[in-house]
Amino acid sequence: MTEYGFNTTLLHGGKDAYPFGATMTPIYQSSAFAHATAEELEKIFDNKAMGFSYTRINNPTVDAFEKKITKLERGLASVACASGMAALSNAMLNILQSGDEVVACTGLYGGTIELFEDLETFGIHVRYVRDATPEAFEAEVTEHTRLFFAETIGNPRLDVTDVAAVAEAAHRHGIPLMIDNTVTTSYLIRPLELGADIVVNSASKYINGNSDSISGILTIGSKFKWDLERYPGLKPYQKFGPMAYIAKLRNGLFRNLGACLAPQNAFLNLVGIETLGLRMERQCSNALELAEFLDTLDGITVNYPGLSSSPYHELADRQLGGRYGAILTLRTGSKKKAFAILNALKIPYILSNIGDTKTLVIHPASTISLHLSEEERVAAGVYEDLIRVSVGIEDVEDLKLDFKQAIGGTQ
Ligand SMILES: *Cc1c(COP(=O)(O)O)cnc(C)c1O
Repeated sequence: MTEYGFNTTLLHGGKDAYPFGATMTPIYQSSAFAHATAEELEKIFDNKAMGFSYTRINNPTVDAFEKKITKLERGLASVACASGMAALSNAMLNILQSGDEVVACTGLYGGTIELFEDLETFGIHVRYVRDATPEAFEAEVTEHTRLFFAETIGNPRLDVTDVAAVAEAAHRHGIPLMIDNTVTTSYLIRPLELGADIVVNSASKYINGNSDSISGILTIGSKFKWDLERYPGLKPYQKFGPMAYIAKLRNGLFRNLGACLAPQNAFLNLVGIETLGLRMERQCSNALELAEFLDTLDGITVNYPGLSSSPYHELADRQLGGRYGAILTLRTGSKKKAFAILNALKIPYILSNIGDTKTLVIHPASTISLHLSEEERVAAGVYEDLIRVSVGIEDVEDLKLDFKQAIGGTQ
């Protein structure tokens, strides 16, 4: 079969025939699905036949979204959830139990660090490494380690993980690597192809693109060999082979926690995702041009993996194919100055989100990272004077002029 390019796959990959020749996936806004016979429904519940029963477990519109992401991430199967956080917690708790440890890097999304704090209550301990290098990860491995976790580009520290090298390190210890691909998406990097075993995306961001729904999705690869002594929860699902992880999730925690994706939101994602390639291309080029421009202004310093001043520039170059994502941060000198710049900007919205078509700005220390300790904040690359910019698809000349007036006006 011909392997289509990224944009063609977005539009035509995994195409199904819909009623009446519809070109968009119908919204199956139905809580449950009727079957002709009792035997038929029994088979579905017993995993002996494919089919839909109840939307908390699966739904045809959600299924179409899952299949699209599986194709884009070149994975084996996906499970879509009500939010990125739901996808992360489901993905982790499916294989972790009390007494287990996770090794994770520090430059993580604030919500994920808070989730890790919650997991401590359940006896799951996280050991942090300052830099996402294979050596640093391996140094934290104990007999209790069951998972390595990293983001492709840390948000907001903008540190880049060497996915292939960290995956190799994980596998040397019989541990899977889970990667949060939200900031990069499958447009910039496909972690499963580089050796990662589970990929999680908050689809609320670039995948949806227009910020009209919250959702998340996890996707598995097919290569990891689960040691059933270390992951005993997978034992009853052995017969599903490489699908054991997904079978356990769908038959267990996913349906029982109940954080399923609404069909309407899956549909909005399916609409948004058609332009993911075009948007990412424009957002990455806008971000690079804006970063280079801001770098010439006095009074601020710019952090962006696309600038040679970033310690991650070389790795980003090699791993992301000459594109660097669309998030940059600015150190402004003080919180007062950061607020003054935010308030003087005319185009961007001040809000806590990334990955929208519109440019978004925020002061992380007083918002998304407010609940982190000072130590956690510094480790996550959040400073009192820091502004995070999620660059949109506007005309970049307008963005440059707007940032120039806002920054110039506060000096
Ligand atoms: C937003 C985000 C999440 C959480 O996703 P929600 O959809 O908001 O629950 C997780 N990881 C990263 C990197 C994010 O940016």
